[in-house]
Amino acid sequence: MAQKVIGLIGGMSWESSAEYYRIINVLVRERLGGLRSAKCLMWSFDFGEIEALQHAGRWDDATAQMIDAAQRLERGGADFVLICTNTMHRMADQVQAAIGLPLLHIADPTAERIKAAGVKKVGLLGTAFTMEQDFYKGRLIERHGLDVIIPEEDDRRVVHRIIYDELVQGRIEAASRQAYREVITRLVERGAEAIILGCTEIMLLVGPQDSSVPLYDTTAIHAEAAVDMAIA
Ligand code: GLU
Repeated sequence: MAQKVIGLIGGMSWESSAEYYRIINVLVRERLGGLRSAKCLMWSFDFGEIEALQHAGRWDDATAQMIDAAQRLERGGADFVLICTNTMHRMADQVQAAIGLPLLHIADPTAERIKAAGVKKVGLLGTAFTMEQDFYKGRLIERHGLDVIIPEEDDRRVVHRIIYDELVQGRIEAASRQAYREVITRLVERGAEAIILGCTEIMLLVGPQDSSVPLYDTTAIHAEAAVDMAIA
């Protein structure tokens, strides 16, 4: 079976990009056979440069970087493109408008799975940008009709700090896992029937055993959606 070429905008951080690469290849092997592997291209950023733009609020410059990456993948022969981070979907519409290929938005396959499970009210964990700004929650609410709740302010600060100070730097700490468990518990107490791991590194820290409700891991879901699209 012929495969489409998956274009990955990665390096945000490479800790999760490595997971995308691994998951995509495992799934292609499972579906097509032992010697088969994914056809893919990755543009991998220096995350230090991207993080500096994010925290300085220089979103226009960050958008230009994402567009440049997508266009590199288009020139390289990708058939469709993924932005391998939830946060940088802030500029997904501008990236889509700047290329002639489809952009596979991370929130859409995630929301489809949540809806298919009959879940209505979902808790969202991610960077402060993803939890607090409208680009991600808005899509889940308006396009997919989900009821989305985010942690209270102190918990949001903890979730954000652990992503940037630890997870994207490859540090996995038991105390931080416990902190995430407690944040998840508070979301469940407020009515969350499931939790979106809306940052692509959170799956490195927590798994199903850390939550009393189902977790929706955007890294795995996005990677699987890419494989579905590549071998459809
Ligand atoms: N990978 C993370 C996410 O999914 C955070 C890194 C970034 O800011 O891009 O949002």
